[in-house]
Amino acid sequence: MHVDMDAFYASVEIRRDPTLRDTPLVVAGQGPRGVVLSATYDVRALGVHAGQATSRARRLAPHALFLSPEHDDYARVSGGVMEVLRSITPRVEPLSLDEAFLDLAGVTRRLGPPETVGESIRARIFDEQGITCSVGIADTKFTAKLAGALAKPDGLSVIRPEQVVDFLHPLPVDRLWGVGERTGALLTDLGLTTIGDVAHTSVETLSRALGAAAGRGLYELAWGRDRRPVIPWEPERSIGAEETFPTDVDDPVAIRRTLLALAHRTATRLRRAKTAGRTVTIKIRFADFSTITRGRTLREATDVGHEIYHVACLLHGALGLERARLRLVGIRVEGLVGGGCPRQLVLGERDPGRREVERAADAVRGRFGDSALTAATLLDRGPRARGPRGR
Ligand SMILES: [Mg+2]
Repeated sequence: MHVDMDAFYASVEIRRDPTLRDTPLVVAGQGPRGVVLSATYDVRALGVHAGQATSRARRLAPHALFLSPEHDDYARVSGGVMEVLRSITPRVEPLSLDEAFLDLAGVTRRLGPPETVGESIRARIFDEQGITCSVGIADTKFTAKLAGALAKPDGLSVIRPEQVVDFLHPLPVDRLWGVGERTGALLTDLGLTTIGDVAHTSVETLSRALGAAAGRGLYELAWGRDRRPVIPWEPERSIGAEETFPTDVDDPVAIRRTLLALAHRTATRLRRAKTAGRTVTIKIRFADFSTITRGRTLREATDVGHEIYHVACLLHGALGLERARLRLVGIRVEGLVGGGCPRQLVLGERDPGRREVERAADAVRGRFGDSALTAATLLDRGPRARGPRGR
């Protein structure tokens, strides 16, 4: 089963202010680099979609009401939605704040046929969270997600195994997972416009045009074969890093340098988990093992090491620990948003320069190893900085 909230961010705004119910609505970052997060269906009909530049959406729908995102609200409603889903089965795989797969194996014996389970989920989400969702049910992830997308908004669709081929084959090729503009153009060159066309082309021909893995993959999907299981997981509540000093340290410069290393390590983990958090906490353990923590909540979630370091330094500085001997320091980021969602988080309207630098650094380290690139301040930190690849 695939469950997806309808126009999630816009729906949460309407839930908060019901007088907006009949207003064309776009939730979008407002600055010069802002992008659209969500829009009501009447505005989508004009070509507005998530990920689009806000300036472009304004030209397409000048009459719409543009609202800035309220991330805390979305995270709260998302938490309520995921709770409903996990009450049906623990086998829930969230894809983003507003979308998840459920494995119904074993569920239907308890709760009735899949459509009954789906309708009760839809009713409960509407009762408890005041928003609508759409549900697709099928024997594979691919078909279930597609069935749900075509039932939108506020619908439910079940595709039984014997109906899968008839359901899929008339649909355009770009409905196949993995078919973007480039692959779509290659398929069009082969004269293939529907999923049925792909199904009736040999794997050899598809592989010649697209490469072996992609050719085989699309062929299997076109026949409704998709072996990916539902992989249940729950988002982490916090991400962080800490370091115990080999001998107790009282030098504030050394402590700051450790905070910098920890901030970057934490940020890398956040980015790897495709999440970000609003509360930065530092932990200090003194030589006598007594431990304190201090935290600060930011206006917006961050996954940027430079920002985390800045907050950690403020918190550390405010403690006034001039000559205290420390055994351990740690940094955690809590209040995670998007909990590991595979979709790109949109983090408001800040200058994204720092974030881009750190993402680029992730890519370099991914290719050349962790010691390939680091903050200059951290260069003399012993063997880790002197890898065989040099600096
Ligand atoms: Mg959605």
